[in-house]
Amino acid sequence: MTDPGTDHTSVAQQAAGPDELRERIDRFVRSRVIPREAVLDAGGPAAADALADLRGQAREEGLWALPLPVELGGGGLGFGAYAALAETEGASDHGPAALGSAPLLDVTMLGRHGGTAVREAYLKPLVAGEMRTCYAMTEPDVPGTDPARTGTRAERGPDGSWLVSGRKWFTSGAAGADLVTVMARTGGSAGDREGLSLLLVPTASAGFRVVRELPVLGAGGQYEIELDRVRVPADHLLGKPGDALAIAGERLQLGRTLRCLRWLGQARRAFDLMCERAATRSGSRGPLADQQLIQGHVFDALLALRTTRPLVHEAVALIAAGRDARTEVGLAKVAAARMLQQVADSAIQVHGAAGLGPDTPLPGLLRTGRAARILDGPDELHITSVARRVLRGYATDGGPVTA
Ligand SMILES: Cc1cc2nc3c(=O)[nH]c(=O)nc-3n(C[C@H](O)[C@H](O)[C@H](O)COP(=O)(O)OP(=O)(O)OC[C@H]3O[C@@H](n4cnc5c(N)ncnc54)[C@H](O)[C@@H]3O)c2cc1C
Repeated sequence: MTDPGTDHTSVAQQAAGPDELRERIDRFVRSRVIPREAVLDAGGPAAADALADLRGQAREEGLWALPLPVELGGGGLGFGAYAALAETEGASDHGPAALGSAPLLDVTMLGRHGGTAVREAYLKPLVAGEMRTCYAMTEPDVPGTDPARTGTRAERGPDGSWLVSGRKWFTSGAAGADLVTVMARTGGSAGDREGLSLLLVPTASAGFRVVRELPVLGAGGQYEIELDRVRVPADHLLGKPGDALAIAGERLQLGRTLRCLRWLGQARRAFDLMCERAATRSGSRGPLADQQLIQGHVFDALLALRTTRPLVHEAVALIAAGRDARTEVGLAKVAAARMLQQVADSAIQVHGAAGLGPDTPLPGLLRTGRAARILDGPDELHITSVARRVLRGYATDGGPVTA
């Protein structure tokens, strides 16, 4: 399968150079996906029809599932090559779903850690867009930043299957998902980092329930779920019992970097809107663009974008080379989340009331930037773990090794 650690010439690359591919994706997102964002955001049958239509167009144009393995129906781009496209594709939240790259994290995780039965049953339908998965780690009653306190439990029955019970929340896309990857305690006790496992739970199983939707700053898509003695087949455990934190760490490293790339694309969109508004809105003192305080917003936003992009690509390069990228991913994640929040906020300021109203995507971009500072680990978690890792280097090596 296409693995983040391997880059090889893909079907997609053979058909088009990287710049041409990026331009085609840019055109697709700007002219097809963005005009349908309001329908897609609203959900329901109209959104499902719009998404199906966009997916059909992406397939016809050879843009479907570019970073997914060729043998599973994808375009076969390695992570390094795909990263150059992910910013463009991610300019709309709906880009990855419309272009079929959304299952990249799950396909990578199941390809590496799923057993034969799991890989055979789920990988092809996931790449084809016929099945959807979600990922449930965070719980209402314990800090998400401290997974060792996970309260969800899985007990092994005499036939080897697992009985899973617990409650998770902020599970993105849980309504309508076919499978949910659940972190559960299969051994040890609360506070142990050992004894946590990941189980792939079919949502059609008896005892699985979506409890409620949890709007985030008014936007839907996050859910609370309950598992009440849900029976999960023995072969639906990922890796070995006790492997959860290692698998989750690998998944989060790739997932955070992907999000950073998409946030760059979204910040670029806010930046363009801000500059277009500044250039075209005029009062008795002339265009907004001539006001120095507005120029200050433009400069600071450009600086944030340009200083964040290389950090994100440093993380991409390490992941593509299969190397430890924890420090670089931590730096990139904090920088990209702050950057999106800052650029979207400046763009709103330059628009005045129009920036807060329904006619631009800016409120949604600001919301994504604000949530970005909490999801996949809040800023503080990354700041403290990067700083601790750096400081350990000074204590053991006696010199500056990372700056
Ligand atoms: C839009 C959105 C989508 C999400 N999607 C998913 C999903 O699909 N699956 C999933 O499992 N979870 C998901 N989450 C949950 C998210 O990953 C958690 O909210 C996050 O990891 C933080 O966990 P918590 O909310 O329990 O905060 P807590 O762990 O309770 O932390 C609360 C606050 O404490 C402070 N804090 C925490 N640790 C430290 C530290 N080391 N040093 C200093 N201060 C600290 C921070 O200010 C932090 O914000 C999503 C969240 C959002 C907002």
